[in-house]
Amino acid sequence: MTPSVNVVAIDGPAGAGKSTISRQLARVLNLPYLDTGAMYRGITCAALRSGVDPTDDSAVAHLAVSTILDISDDALFVDGVDATLDIRGEAVTRAVSSVAANSEVRRELRERQRSWVQERGGGVVEGRDIATVVFPDARLKVFLTASPLVRAQRRVAQIGGDVDQIARDIAERDHKDSTRTDSPLRESVNSILVDTSNRSIDDVVKQIAEVFRG
Ligand code: C5P
Repeated sequence: MTPSVNVVAIDGPAGAGKSTISRQLARVLNLPYLDTGAMYRGITCAALRSGVDPTDDSAVAHLAVSTILDISDDALFVDGVDATLDIRGEAVTRAVSSVAANSEVRRELRERQRSWVQERGGGVVEGRDIATVVFPDARLKVFLTASPLVRAQRRVAQIGGDVDQIARDIAERDHKDSTRTDSPLRESVNSILVDTSNRSIDDVVKQIAEVFRG
């Protein structure tokens, strides 16, 4: 296992504020930032682009190994083609949980995530299984949450749509993510739980940065 002294692991359900908080925290702590959800979305995008059924486990597993993901703070290229907008679209969002339940995909992406951090000497890494599986020895583990209504309202503010429909979509994705066999979304034993429902981003970032610095 990679020594992960300088890793802040941030997990939580959709809409808990992970990306916004993780990005800002990374800037404050001067650490690189990795959005692992974007990687699962990237493999999903590769499957949809090439006409592979996202539930076809062996075809998706092959794709995961051969797909080149070029990830930076504000863009993702899949096999050299810009997928930054596509990975946030409805088609990818609906299919990503099936791809993320595929153990071969997880194994491949887990290795890439560990290498990414090792090459950079640390990072703020957000996802669903970062504290529990990818970096169980992270220096700080945070589980972010928020009420279902707040999470749905945040998504509507980002992408538009009907709040009830978005709330149902989020609940379905959370259910799939937390009931899958391999690396389900769950709080790690020694993580700090932060409810972001009624708090500002600055306030949450400040709290986590203070705990990290000890
Ligand atoms: O964080 P985001 O909503 O972009 O993640 C998209 C999906 O990727 C999640 O719903 C989940 O199925 C999957 N994921 C995962 N493990 C991670 C990060 C994301 O299974 N570490």
